[in-house]
Amino acid sequence: MTTSLPRLAIVIPCFNEQSVLPHTLKTLTTIQQQLIEKNQLSPDSFLYCVDDGSEDQTWSIISSAHADNTNIKGLRLARNVGHQNALFAGLMSIRKKVDCVISIDADLQDDASVIKDMIEHFQQGSDIVYGIRQSREKDTLFKRLTAAAFYKIMQRSGAKVLFNHADFRLLSARTLKQLSQFKERNLFLRGVFPLIGFQSSQVYYDRANRTMGESKYTLRKMIGLAWDGITSFTHAPLDFIFALGVTSFFGSILLSIWALTAKFSSHALPGWTSIMIPVCFMGGVQLLSIGVLGEYIAKVYFEVKRRPRFTKDTELF
Ligand code: UDP
Ligand code: MG
Repeated sequence: MTTSLPRLAIVIPCFNEQSVLPHTLKTLTTIQQQLIEKNQLSPDSFLYCVDDGSEDQTWSIISSAHADNTNIKGLRLARNVGHQNALFAGLMSIRKKVDCVISIDADLQDDASVIKDMIEHFQQGSDIVYGIRQSREKDTLFKRLTAAAFYKIMQRSGAKVLFNHADFRLLSARTLKQLSQFKERNLFLRGVFPLIGFQSSQVYYDRANRTMGESKYTLRKMIGLAWDGITSFTHAPLDFIFALGVTSFFGSILLSIWALTAKFSSHALPGWTSIMIPVCFMGGVQLLSIGVLGEYIAKVYFEVKRRPRFTKDTELF
């Protein structure tokens, strides 16, 4: 039996990337071509550029590249929907046409030369291959600190995310199929793959500088992404309110006892106790009630996401 070579698509979300895109397309085509020549990839493997509503020449670069070489394909979104959604759009559009995909940013800050290692891992049976940044020396201090804080918060609150892994990864076709079962709108891709749970492996690389163009992640987009990650994978903030409610409820009981003792040992001003007790007690009761409501809201929240309950790996029937 001959096993056919895997068809790979490299998915590249692009937002106003006219300055880097020609170079990126050339580099990635070369890498893919080498793998095809070495008989590791099927000759109909391709690049898939997702233009996320760019306002510059990005789309015309993609379409003229496609005219020269049909192995460069593209998708133009009608408006800017953000990196995560653009990437998701790309993955979902081609998922039935390929055996595996690799997603990579248009600026090639992630080292494209490890793509061949990813393919090797795929051939050895990995369904998900994570690209992990070995060093972030090239990132600004601010970016490094905020990134470290983000990963810490996520891990503390129980969401499984890989440290220093962004959106550079290989996914098999069946991982994409399972991904399509996640119907939630606020999709934080990095958190989903560990949940899916297929066999995974990691490749390491050094993160380079952005050679041209500017980071499209403004501070606002970055905070938005981090907040999405936290709120869509954990209900830790609600648990915190609940814990606060329990503490203040019991605290208020202790305070009430103290206020009563003060009254009967008669060193309290008249009227003080009758104000003190309701204020403490009602405060405690209210916070506790909000906390209980929060716990139910957390349940409802995770129900409406309708996430798949399991992932089938192998079945002997
Ligand atoms: N990007 C996108 N839509 C956006 C913002 C960014 O498709 O609204 C793409 C961008 O073209 C790049 C990738 O997402 O390919 C990562 O963006 P960038 O390199 O600016 O982020 P950074 O590396 O600074 O985190
Ligand atoms: Mg970048």
